[in-house]
Amino acid sequence: MGEVPEESPCFDLGSSRRVSEVRGMAMTAMGSTLAARVEGVVKRYGSGPAAVTALDGVSIEIPAGSFTAVMGPSGSGKSTLLHCMAGLDKPDSGRVWVGGEEITSMPDRALTRLRRDRVGFVFQAFNLLPVLSAAGNITLPADIAGRGLDRDWLASVVETVGLADRLSHRPSELSGGQQQRVAIARALVSRPAIVFADEPTGNLDSRAGAEVLDLLCRSVAEFGQTVVMVTHDPVAASYSQRVVFLADGQVVGVLEQPTPDAVLDRMRALGEPRPATPPVRPAARGSAATPAAGTTGDVE
Ligand code: ADP
Repeated sequence: MGEVPEESPCFDLGSSRRVSEVRGMAMTAMGSTLAARVEGVVKRYGSGPAAVTALDGVSIEIPAGSFTAVMGPSGSGKSTLLHCMAGLDKPDSGRVWVGGEEITSMPDRALTRLRRDRVGFVFQAFNLLPVLSAAGNITLPADIAGRGLDRDWLASVVETVGLADRLSHRPSELSGGQQQRVAIARALVSRPAIVFADEPTGNLDSRAGAEVLDLLCRSVAEFGQTVVMVTHDPVAASYSQRVVFLADGQVVGVLEQPTPDAVLDRMRALGEPRPATPPVRPAARGSAATPAAGTTGDVE
């Protein structure tokens, strides 16, 4: 401790807490609004001697308007946690809330509706429909739900993701980075309580990855969006405001204002090998992103 963190390239920390439009959400003990909460979640796969405990009593709180990265060695439970938080998988025990609603006790139909209306997803493989244009992909969830679209909001999302001149293109006519930006626009357009991103830069080169991460940051800083991102990449994690580390299905640490080096040190402590070249954060086109600066927080 002792070092004063320099300004984050993505966050003016004041603005990222400017969350005025979040409705019906739980509050933390400190009084901030929660977009999601996990309490004592246990998830096992299989039975008998072959059983695997993927999550072993995980509890975390995700403040509204925050950008959280989840990291840990392969097999530590990151994807399982994301799936349980997003209502894609059911824990064996423990409770999960999205916004103010407990999803662990929710009937399937209500859960499907909640996932559709209140949760956004961004996947490593983009998951766009190839026959639809970028515009068609962005509005597809609202079209399926028969939901009217706020055209001003749609325009501002399209503007933010920088796709205004690509809306009529099909995914095959777009670069990987552009396709992922379509997927982010699709996730943001319904103003979800939370966006879950699973290795969103895993299929991108470092420049396109930087643009996608910059965009996720801006969705938090400018729109008050809540983002939870699973990644194995210390540079990607350094775009977030805090990193939650998992090992063997348990939360083993939290790092506030992460830098690539600080994340890497924690990962090494969890047994990950050090890469041949040190992690560097590339600048996204037209962004002010610079090498990360900050201090490490304390492990819980
Ligand atoms: P991570 O995303 O950190 O790599 P996962 O959440 O995918 O970890 O997996 C955590 C543990 O649970 C691993 O040991 C994995 O093999 C196991 N696991 C995950 N999904 C399944 C499944 N569907 N069936 C059996 N075991 C699983």
